[in-house]
Amino acid sequence: MKVGFIGLGIMGGAMALNVRSAGYEMVVYDVRREAAAPHLKAGAKWADGPRQVAQQSDIVFTSLPGPREAETVGAELLEGMRPTAAWFDLTTNSPTVVRRLNARFAEKGIPMLDAPVSGGPRGAQTRKLALLVGGASAVFDRFRRVLDAIGDRVIYIGPIGAGSVAKLVHNCAGYAIQAALAEVFTMGVKAGVDPLELWAAVRQCSLGRMRTFDRLGNQFLQGKFEPPDFALKLAHKDGALATELARELGVPMRIASLTHAEMTEALNRGWGERDSRSFLLLQEERAGVKIAVPAEKIQQVLDRG
Ligand code: NAD
Repeated sequence: MKVGFIGLGIMGGAMALNVRSAGYEMVVYDVRREAAAPHLKAGAKWADGPRQVAQQSDIVFTSLPGPREAETVGAELLEGMRPTAAWFDLTTNSPTVVRRLNARFAEKGIPMLDAPVSGGPRGAQTRKLALLVGGASAVFDRFRRVLDAIGDRVIYIGPIGAGSVAKLVHNCAGYAIQAALAEVFTMGVKAGVDPLELWAAVRQCSLGRMRTFDRLGNQFLQGKFEPPDFALKLAHKDGALATELARELGVPMRIASLTHAEMTEALNRGWGERDSRSFLLLQEERAGVKIAVPAEKIQQVLDRG
């Protein structure tokens, strides 16, 4: 089976390397040719565009910034793909867009499935990644082994769009929870408690035992948002997709909308290329609090269990 991979960024680059390591023949493309260097070194072939990838592949993966790029690449894939092949879009995409693309592909008898991922760059590198899949279950079953090369939690959810809906539910919850945690932490620090000691203590309380606070150690507590694990501009896109979906469905999303407005404000500060969590700095500013704990001290707390 020959695998095509388009979009070799923070996530796609690592996922594609794992597919290649599993022994699949591979053809790759990215608008930034230099992103393909590790893949070509590992034996993958370069193609000059999405259509050329499609013509050579039994399965095509895309890991693109968002709906706009997925539609552009999708139009070219449609011209090149064989009816026996399938497209799995790993992008965090709009459910409405993936359903539209799926319908267009169905007219030519080509299956298109949405399969957004969760686990971050480290998960993509180590294969500790969840794949949330929507689309034809028979096609999912047919390509299951390649999906297993990308993630250790490959989950079929339902018809086309189901993967994207689940992904937006997950991400939107994550951002809203982070915004709430930043609020209470700035209050705690301003009330005179050392941020590291505060974090070390609440980690051991009832919410803390669910690991709710642990990831605050990554960027927020360190006050360090570069290099990004996940760019703010992409997180902002996810927030927009979730709140747009809510509007389409007539679901009020007060907390998510507020969180998204925070992200918009952070984008306007020029923080789009910083990590997604940099929007939490706005709350620090409002509170008049600066949190910057050295990484090694955070690690010492984590090592205590
Ligand atoms: P990224 O910007 O690092 O990667 C996107 C890649 O797509 C880049 O290499 C870019 O050059 C390429 N690209 C853009 N337009 C293209 C086109 N028209 N044709 C071919 N290649 C094109 O972003 P990322 O962090 O790897 O995220 C990729 C997707 O995965 C996004 O949808 C994101 O929301 C999602 N995601 C990211 C994370 C994370 O933690 N980084 C986690 C889960 C899901």
